[in-house]
Amino acid sequence: MLKRIDLTRDYRRYREEYQQAIELVCKESAFSGGKYADQFDREFAAFCGVPYATGVNNGTTALHCAMMALGIKAGDEVIVPANTYIATAWAVTYTGAVPVFVDCTADTWEIDPERIEEKITSRTKAIIGVHLYGQPFAFGQVEKIAKEHGLYVVEDCAQAHGAKYEGRMAGSLGELGCFSFYPGKNLYAFGEGGSVTCYKKEYYDAINVIKNQGCRVQYQHERIGYNYRLEGLQGAVLSVGLRHLPEWTKRRIEIGETYLREIRNPRFTMQAHPENTEPVYHLFEVMVEDPAAFLQYMARQGIECHRHYPVPCHLQKAYASLGYREGDCPNAEFLAKHCATLPLFPEMTQEEVGRVIEACNRYQG
Ligand SMILES: *Cc1c(COP(=O)(O)O)cnc(C)c1O
Repeated sequence: MLKRIDLTRDYRRYREEYQQAIELVCKESAFSGGKYADQFDREFAAFCGVPYATGVNNGTTALHCAMMALGIKAGDEVIVPANTYIATAWAVTYTGAVPVFVDCTADTWEIDPERIEEKITSRTKAIIGVHLYGQPFAFGQVEKIAKEHGLYVVEDCAQAHGAKYEGRMAGSLGELGCFSFYPGKNLYAFGEGGSVTCYKKEYYDAINVIKNQGCRVQYQHERIGYNYRLEGLQGAVLSVGLRHLPEWTKRRIEIGETYLREIRNPRFTMQAHPENTEPVYHLFEVMVEDPAAFLQYMARQGIECHRHYPVPCHLQKAYASLGYREGDCPNAEFLAKHCATLPLFPEMTQEEVGRVIEACNRYQG
């Protein structure tokens, strides 16, 4: 069975480097935060082209920290896309503010700038845009609206390490950029990890205090804090990954572009990739009439597929109290009903890429 994503190949290939990095952390017992977490922060900031990156324990807490750094609180509203992983919305909810869901476009499947303004109220404080599936969202249009209304733009970069919008890196566009290093993300930890990037020292300082139990000085808790630190082992593993991220990204782009070019079956619709963006193909999503039948067909061909995401955020049971109805975000709802994810990871062989393409082109469903 070809798995949708197979991380064991990555480990086999870079085992020596990973083992050496882990050994150093263990020898020095630099486990919670510390030297190797700090070193990764500096490397990751340089990679993103920003002065500051601060490591946290996952992508969800990265988003939560960004909301807290901006002072988002109960009574506020934050605009988020209906088509995203739920954690984008959680971060808003954790602060006591309300996520306000905006539909995606019919072609890029990302936040629709045309639908943002109608959702802005006197309580709106920020917009979180998501570079979904590795495809940068329409940052320029979103930023223009935000400026007109005095709102912050935060980037959810959990699926877009190294993606570019008009030549600029994801994570260097908005007020703050939030990354996840969950296993399977373009850059990943051996466990959980995340990072927040920014230009302003005040945000960086605030998040360093928030993630460290509200302390700048040990046992002096100057604000309500959290234990959101990045582990040293994860920092060390991430530094190894970051060295290889450019080659991994190159291979993802190669595979993504091959799928776009060679899957010729009119039964599939693919995500649009606007000219001014350089996507990094975190997930290769297609729309198909009956995804359940398609997944079964692919499994019979020995190819594992998946779905991202079968229920849009605004219709999740957890958000029932917000009162959204079917029909409120029609593009996101249509996508949720029809989406399917093809295998894509850097260690896939050409033969496997070819098998996926051939199976898709033969699909009659
Ligand atoms: C993975 C992901 C997150 C959450 O990251 P975790 O590290 O799993 O907490 C947030 N937003 C998006 C778009 C994601 O894909």
